[in-house]
Amino acid sequence: MKLELDQQSHRRRNSLTGEWVLVSPHRTQRPWQGAVEKVPPTERPQYDPTCYLCPGNQRAGGVRNPQYTSTFVFENDFAALKKDSPRIRLDVEDKGLLVAEGEPGICRVMCFSPRHDLTLSSMSLAEIEEVVRTWTSQFAELAAAPGISHVQIFENRGEMMGASNPHPHCQIWATASIPEQPVRELDSQRKYFEKEGTCLLCDYVRLEQSQATRMVCSNEGFVGLVPFWAVWPFEVLLCSRRHMGSFAEFSAAEVAQLSAILKQVVATYDRVFGVPFPYSMGFHQSPTDKSQHPEWHFHAHFYPPLLRSATVRKFMVGFEMLGTPQRDITPELAAQKLRSLTETGS
Ligand SMILES: [Zn+2]
Ligand SMILES: [Zn+2]
Ligand SMILES: [Zn+2]
Repeated sequence: MKLELDQQSHRRRNSLTGEWVLVSPHRTQRPWQGAVEKVPPTERPQYDPTCYLCPGNQRAGGVRNPQYTSTFVFENDFAALKKDSPRIRLDVEDKGLLVAEGEPGICRVMCFSPRHDLTLSSMSLAEIEEVVRTWTSQFAELAAAPGISHVQIFENRGEMMGASNPHPHCQIWATASIPEQPVRELDSQRKYFEKEGTCLLCDYVRLEQSQATRMVCSNEGFVGLVPFWAVWPFEVLLCSRRHMGSFAEFSAAEVAQLSAILKQVVATYDRVFGVPFPYSMGFHQSPTDKSQHPEWHFHAHFYPPLLRSATVRKFMVGFEMLGTPQRDITPELAAQKLRSLTETGS
């Protein structure tokens, strides 16, 4: 007996987190069901006088933005983390039942461009390279800050993902502890490194390249693929080809290559349903806890919620909330769809 991954219900293990996803390919024997709905494009002005991120405008805290001309970073006026929270642990009666820890941290907002109407897919490569260079300097600065163990750079795009403002921007949260997802990935990468003597993602990318069915796009520096264990219908994992831990190790060529592949992935997404694709994306870089992390491999995750059309999204409910995440369209079919919409170059 052989497990037919394109026909039989099965579960796949996420080798980065150890979590499982249930795959039900028999429910999508029909061909591609996606629908390109004609959603009227929302014309956005280059400058919006009511936007708190546009140059020269006043923010809710009363501060006025400078007339910035490329990227612009500021401390979040409504930060989820405070620098002065004491790093103290609470454990009522030492039973491990009521446990809490003080979590100091820094939250910043970073505008990609002064233009209110742009996105990563419509910005020029030179403009995106400036974004990557700002990520690099922000990462270096926050990684060096005392008591910061992890720097999370992430972008929420689209109202569906709860993005409150369409102005192209991301957030940077630097925390005293390593958050849940990266800490699981750290554990898996470390165990693999100790057992195999090689890097988990280096080996994984090599396997994916040899199977080729889940590859989406690539250039000299990076590869984009739908991971074997993808939970979201059109999830993409972006990995550096070279084994490195963070932006700190990027060459000038890799800055340009990452910019190109980011633009390519987002532009491909926008073609799936003919609308600006909502998503959460973010970089997973080596911890900044001041110890060495030879096991960590630089990567980014794209988690887009759309399933069948511009308006039909995937919900994580029922069995997914109580049991395990589930998908119908296989990662292989999703990758095939994305590949067919990928145009190389820009
Ligand atoms: Zn704006
Ligand atoms: Zn590696
Ligand atoms: Zn990750």
